[in-house]
Amino acid sequence: MTNQQIIRLTDDNILHTYGRFPVAIEHGEGAKLYDFDGKRYIDFTSGIGVCSLGYGNRRWADAVAEQAGKLPHVSNLFYTEPAALVAKELNERTGMHGAFFANSGAEANEGMIKLARKYSFDKYGAGRSGIVTLSRSFHGRTVTTLAATGQDAFHNYFFPFTEGFVRAEPNDSASVKAACDGAVCAVMMELIQGEGGVLPLEKDFVQDVAAFCRENGLLLLIDEVQTGVGRTGTLFCYQQYGIEPDVVSFAKGIAGGLPFGGILTNETCASVLSAGTHAATFGGNPICSAGALTVLDTLTPSFLAEVTQKGDYIRSRIRSMALPAVKNVRGLGLMIGVGVACSHREAVSAMIQNGLLALTAGSDTVRLMPPLTITKEEIDAGLAIFETTLGGMEK
Ligand code: PLP
Repeated sequence: MTNQQIIRLTDDNILHTYGRFPVAIEHGEGAKLYDFDGKRYIDFTSGIGVCSLGYGNRRWADAVAEQAGKLPHVSNLFYTEPAALVAKELNERTGMHGAFFANSGAEANEGMIKLARKYSFDKYGAGRSGIVTLSRSFHGRTVTTLAATGQDAFHNYFFPFTEGFVRAEPNDSASVKAACDGAVCAVMMELIQGEGGVLPLEKDFVQDVAAFCRENGLLLLIDEVQTGVGRTGTLFCYQQYGIEPDVVSFAKGIAGGLPFGGILTNETCASVLSAGTHAATFGGNPICSAGALTVLDTLTPSFLAEVTQKGDYIRSRIRSMALPAVKNVRGLGLMIGVGVACSHREAVSAMIQNGLLALTAGSDTVRLMPPLTITKEEIDAGLAIFETTLGGMEK
């Protein structure tokens, strides 16, 4: 088939909920993708932070295929080896004490919210179910995670939303503390607000909120759906913030391209979700877990150090381009935000036409999230297209 045929087939048969770019991807190799007309793209998106090991990774594909041939699924009524190994690996590498597995970021956050509410109910009784979230945050598309999301644009149409979410301002401890009245049980935040515009929270603010939560019996919930699993140069981003969350959620890059999300809890919270209180049919699915094991195995300390170096290299190269359209460069590791003075959507559209896949975020940001395995040659090829394209954009 051709790009045009696939676009037509899609538009005729799938609901139009996405503002798609007119490209149909056929296959990939490393950090390069090829469309159905044979055109090559350097991929600075990794499927929005999902394909952490890039494309055509033999080790990952073999592990997934072998598990598919052995046991694709059996349900959580029984024990399986791959899920147990993923949980062990995550717990050992974070010092956390228990995992719950689901399929997506929103679902992981639903589990985290349910856990916080039940923890508070068990300990303090009813009437303490509020959760403070931050302006510009993004936590998912279910009715509850939309309510948690701190962007008014998402709070339309789907009324009534889940009650109990209270908004505070990022990098403003006083605003968080003021929002934490007697009806609140937890504070939930991303450490780099991804969809909101790749906005890293200040370390002092995060540490102050963490201490406040500890002192006041509030749970600290960290949404690492976008920042987690090596994206920022450590297994989880909170490890760079010097805090110890009560619960952390993850998804996207964990299984390298397969649907997998979940939460990790500390010791205090590990027994809150007791039998029958939470479940997901596909949670910890053996095939996805086999993919996750390969990803986790790849994320060695030296691999993670390279993620940091590659991110620093990209940021410094972009700064040195001195492009009038570039206002600022932000981010950690391979989660990079470039504030632009032109339309971010038009900039990304032009980059795609020129052979570089990139993302938008917030109202003025071009977001770059390449596969963690991207090579120096692929980075340089992508940056060359980035420079030419933005160099030709009106301010
Ligand atoms: N939380 C954060 C921080 C995200 O960036 C996203 C998705 O972009 C989600 C939650 C929702 O994840 P999913 O689309 O897998 O439900």
